Amino acid sequence: MANSVTPLFDIGANLLDSQLSKNFNEVITRSKENNIRKIIITSSHIDDTYQAKELIDREPDLLYTTVGFHPHNAKDFKDSHIDKMLELCEHDYVKAIGECGLDYKRNYSSKNDQITCFTKHLELATSIDLPMFLHERDAHEDFIILLKEYSHLVEDIVVHCFTGDKKSLSSYLDLGCYIGVTGWITDPNRGYHLHDLISYVPSDKLMIETDSPYLMPFNYPIKNKKYNEPSNLIYVLDAVASILQKDKNILAEEIYNNSCRFFNI
Ligand SMILES: [Zn+2]
Repeated sequence: MANSVTPLFDIGANLLDSQLSKNFNEVITRSKENNIRKIIITSSHIDDTYQAKELIDREPDLLYTTVGFHPHNAKDFKDSHIDKMLELCEHDYVKAIGECGLDYKRNYSSKNDQITCFTKHLELATSIDLPMFLHERDAHEDFIILLKEYSHLVEDIVVHCFTGDKKSLSSYLDLGCYIGVTGWITDPNRGYHLHDLISYVPSDKLMIETDSPYLMPFNYPIKNKKYNEPSNLIYVLDAVASILQKDKNILAEEIYNNSCRFFNI
């Protein structure tokens, strides 16, 4: 397994998760060894953005973050958070609004809270020059209704960790969304339907991510590793390159450029 010779960009890593944060130095070292040059730390709650800043200060050329409430945390969102979020958006290390969206698979927050919270994030995004990092699971119908209302007013949008079907993919692409692909695509039980779909994603709309510490790629060679991490982005790249039958380094360069353009880095 050769490393990528071109730089890589992990657009979604949950580095605040204790499995990764307690091993921060090793995780970062291994990332650099595998040529991961940029990592967006996924914030799922406004408190995460403040915590992410502490990690970013240690690796300011490598790490960036987002600001927003994950649909699981929608119940914690209050209108009074908006001013603080706006304040955070002014910092250079905050590169997107998110992770936000709708998740009806687990419903840790009620559907009503999720819809209200997501709508407020979309409204916020229309007022500033930041893209959105979105999460949708089993909620396509409501999600697309809201997206259609706001997407033309928002800088740019990525539907991260896309796991949906052809219909939902086409509706996102019709709205000009970017698509984030994770190790889900390597999962024989849940991800192989994506093999046919990713060829429909235009080469200038594709990005890759680990969503670590979750979603360990199935093509990762060591089977007893407990958690996924950004260095394993090379396995997501490998899988996508072989599915698309594309030269790995050409693909890596396209994806890296897409990611830098999207996050304005
Ligand atoms: Zn997500």
